[in-house]
Amino acid sequence: MKEMDKKVIIITGAAMGLGLAAAQEFAARGAKQVLVDYNKEALEKAADEIRAEFPDVEIVTHVADVSKEEDVKAYIELAESTFGRIDGLYNNAGIEGRQAPLAEYDLDVFRKVVDINLMGVYFGMRHVIPVMQKQKYGRIVNVASVGGIRGVVNQTPYVATKHAVSGMTKNAAIEYGKDGILTNAIAPGAILTPMVAEAFKQVNPDNPEAAEREYSQRNPTRALGQPKDVAKLVAFLIGEENGYVNGQTIAIDGGESNLY
Ligand code: NAD
Repeated sequence: MKEMDKKVIIITGAAMGLGLAAAQEFAARGAKQVLVDYNKEALEKAADEIRAEFPDVEIVTHVADVSKEEDVKAYIELAESTFGRIDGLYNNAGIEGRQAPLAEYDLDVFRKVVDINLMGVYFGMRHVIPVMQKQKYGRIVNVASVGGIRGVVNQTPYVATKHAVSGMTKNAAIEYGKDGILTNAIAPGAILTPMVAEAFKQVNPDNPEAAEREYSQRNPTRALGQPKDVAKLVAFLIGEENGYVNGQTIAIDGGESNLY
């Protein structure tokens, strides 16, 4: 018996970065999973790696764009029809967009960030909550960011959508706590994933390693976070151990958001 072997968990953006690290952590704890991503090739590769490492764990993949409501409905239906229930949704898929000052921001990119980071998270909650209400049990973890509790220079739509994720988390928590559903958000700082590696390339295209070194020196711990650190927090929030944390946005950033 493993801690999560009765659990069914959906992860969006599971092909790499924070989503993949969570899939590995949940697999180590025995959870059945539906892994969702719009990058089919990377998703299948990630799932194959997890199956090879944890052959007893049931893993289903589904290619979907979380900004499309029909795609979201389909991954929820797949999880229910395959496993009969959904214990947790890790609403993780998100993009940063390009970096530019507020008044110069490209509108198409702005709308895309809204569609994925805000509407994608909303659609996930909209369609999983009725399933969890029937069960009288559920755990939702939405991915905000330190950009969901602070401003970040040149990232207006990212900051706007991540604040929205934190706001929607509070609403889901107060509306559905009575149904046994606990909803929380996490606010990672700089965690070393492909998304953050890309951001360092934008800051210093000639020497992204220098940008990474400089950035990590600002952190109270003098280091960037690792995806595994985040996965362990998510495993707590989405698992049975979380009995009463609801509606919170929990920073996981080495303390950086406290700096003045
Ligand atoms: P990443 O780019 O490394 O991975 C994101 C994954 O999501 C990719 O596999 C991508 O294909 C998928 N994805 C993106 N848009 C999608 C869509 N519309 N439909 C389906 N899949 C989609 O990013 P990451 O760093 O792992 O970030 C994961 C989440 O964590 C994001 O919401 C991000 O904003 C948030 N976050 C990350 C950091 C960090 O430091 N890495 C910090 C704060 C918040």
